[in-house]
Amino acid sequence: MLIKKILPAFIVLALAVYFIASYRGPESGVSTNIDRNNLEKYWKTKEVSVAENQFLLGKKDASITSRFRIRSFGLTLKVKTTPGAIGTINFATSKSYDASNFRGYSVLINNSDYSTGLPQKTGSLSKIRNNFIRMAEDNEWFDLNISVLENHISVSVNGKLISEYVEPPNAKRLENYTGIVLSRSFISLRKISEQGEIIIGEMKIKPFTEDIARVTPTVKIDSLQDVIDSLNQREFPLIDFHVHLKGGLTMDQAQMHAKENGFCYGVAANCGLKFPVTNDSTLNSYLQSIQKEPVFKAMQCEGREWVTLFSPAAVAGFDYIFTDAMTWSDHKGRRMRLWMPDETFVDNDQQFMDMLVGKIEAVMEGEPVDIYVNPTFLPAQLASRYDELWTNERMARVVSVLQRNQVALEINARYKIPSIAFIRKAKEAGVKFTFGTNNTKNDDLNRMEYCLKVIREVHLTQEDIFMPKTKAERKILKKGLPAAITG
Ligand SMILES: [Zn+2]
Repeated sequence: MLIKKILPAFIVLALAVYFIASYRGPESGVSTNIDRNNLEKYWKTKEVSVAENQFLLGKKDASITSRFRIRSFGLTLKVKTTPGAIGTINFATSKSYDASNFRGYSVLINNSDYSTGLPQKTGSLSKIRNNFIRMAEDNEWFDLNISVLENHISVSVNGKLISEYVEPPNAKRLENYTGIVLSRSFISLRKISEQGEIIIGEMKIKPFTEDIARVTPTVKIDSLQDVIDSLNQREFPLIDFHVHLKGGLTMDQAQMHAKENGFCYGVAANCGLKFPVTNDSTLNSYLQSIQKEPVFKAMQCEGREWVTLFSPAAVAGFDYIFTDAMTWSDHKGRRMRLWMPDETFVDNDQQFMDMLVGKIEAVMEGEPVDIYVNPTFLPAQLASRYDELWTNERMARVVSVLQRNQVALEINARYKIPSIAFIRKAKEAGVKFTFGTNNTKNDDLNRMEYCLKVIREVHLTQEDIFMPKTKAERKILKKGLPAAITG
């Protein structure tokens, strides 16, 4: 009887002693520089050339794998890539790499330009918290920091937090990804592309062998979060391309909201006549002020006058630009802002709708924008008759102008527009989509509920989602600005 009680406890104790005693890594709680002198002592290398204190991974599958197993650690790297290089830093992973049965988490190294190479960029916690924002360029040193403290993972690039994740108990994973779970295991840096080189200029590790308290997830674990998590595991780009720092919302608050929920953000400045960003000089200083932030840098082109205020070269500093068709002058010359009931004049419903469609066509044809936002918005007087007034013929005209001019269509999370019927038609025509909230305050950022519903109902895939162009391919540079104001 006594043996039955004591024996299991004794086995647990013996195993614990064995594991603690078996730790053969660098000293716990201390940051140890990994250099040529101690590299082989703590790490197993494959196809890595060591020169001075730099480690170079040139061939595909070149790797540096720890000889020790650890759960909690801080890993700091100074890294440089050359074009085409892609690498992963895996942790909670197996000693030998097994692509068909991968275990653990991966942090990505990929500095390719937008719309080239992998869409996920450096700092991405792959399939869990995907990052689509470029934070580093090829041929430039950058700092990469990975911290795993019990169940709390954070990844920073150049001092900016890129990915953060708190692993909940019994984390839900899709069938093929059940191995993405934290454990006391190996750390491995691996080059996964044929092309390019990854150079490690500095590598420091701070292991923690003692117990560390678990962190409670701050975000609600509900059915919506399950949808977001499963889309992330499918590497679906969950990006809110249309966020404003308005009503007191700060850059840090916006990023925190995005990270907690598992999105990326594009932060847009309102640029136009009588706006704070109103010429090249205010545009450039704005861009300079947010250059290092881990968000897409977006320009909202305001009114119709913006085309006369900025130069294409300055506008091309933004990752993408967008506009809506909510501000225009009607046939009687009345300048209208459709979201302001007292500035909108509807003399005749059908005539108004035809005028609106004509304005959308003129703007999307004439202005070199990447995205049509707040699309198909109707003023308060007409909004309740959306499905009736957006006839097949009107929808077809708008879809056609977007398709001809390669303008992406925003699926607006706040206004819940366009309708599912409209989105279906646009998808059939090959139009790309973005998601956008267009928040007005610091408390109306949502969890993209309407966009998630659309993804499910219209079966949107990764290929349906817009991504910014490479610097050289930006539309503003290729198309230029119209000679005169449209609309
Ligand atoms: Zn906006």
